[in-house]
Amino acid sequence: MEEFLSKIGLYQIYTLLEHYAIGNQDYTTPFDFIGKTFQYKCEKEEAFRTFELDLDEATKDYFGSKDGTKIPRENLIESKLNYTFKVIGKCKSCNNHNIIFLLNVFSNNPISNILNNTGNIALEDQNKWNLPDTHIYVQKVGAFPQIKILPSKIITKYFNRETNQWYFKGINTLNENYGIGSYAYFRRIIEKELINIIEDIKSLPDSHMVEIDKLLEKHKEYPKVSTIYDNIFEHLPNSLKVLGVNPIKLLYNQTSEGLHSLTEQECLEKAKSILKLLDFVIKRINEERSEIKDLKETIKGLK
Ligand SMILES: [Zn+2]
Repeated sequence: MEEFLSKIGLYQIYTLLEHYAIGNQDYTTPFDFIGKTFQYKCEKEEAFRTFELDLDEATKDYFGSKDGTKIPRENLIESKLNYTFKVIGKCKSCNNHNIIFLLNVFSNNPISNILNNTGNIALEDQNKWNLPDTHIYVQKVGAFPQIKILPSKIITKYFNRETNQWYFKGINTLNENYGIGSYAYFRRIIEKELINIIEDIKSLPDSHMVEIDKLLEKHKEYPKVSTIYDNIFEHLPNSLKVLGVNPIKLLYNQTSEGLHSLTEQECLEKAKSILKLLDFVIKRINEERSEIKDLKETIKGLK
């Protein structure tokens, strides 16, 4: 739940509760969300702070007047849990910044409206809607201010301003499930940066600098030929070989297909793969560089 509130963008389905059964009372009304805490950016303090969920007075009044032993009828559609409501996240640090989410909570199967399993409910009624594999899900269907995902410092330090703008737009459109849009940004990044990334890898201590240089030379002569991506694997430092596959080639392959031939869903999958691989490669480069820096400092101290 905390992860969902902090990090997940609009229209991404998150499992709140698995194997719902009568007697489970969690998440059946908006009241069940009051008091949940999560980390979020406070725009007043320009920092990540703990936020706590609350409801507005109208929602509290409305649901507070309901019979507590049953799920309110308006929270069910065709006997499945399905309701949407507004929650307010309040910054606990400054008490001066609020964010608003519209949450949609739903179940995959019909559920009983009975909340309290201890009363005189006929067994028949209890079992009627006690279907196995019934789970409760939640998604954000609105947010104010708009949800923004920030790239890690390692990424922003690595790229220049232009690439960072594409990266920011790429992760945010991805987070809103826009496949074609996010894929287009990540494609741009790979097209622009992949050779630069190879140049950086070349200078890492564990990689075969001479061999990579040869590949780069050839690539400059014939930029349209992809041999550099195919042949670089054996010359990579070990930290980039741990996957057992060639991450550079995989990155290149994600961009080799035309944008027009892919569906929205395919673009979404490709954008996710590029993001994961790109983060992996840049983190490894960064780690190796910091290790070199540390070693240099140590050696300086030895002199
Ligand atoms: Zn604050």
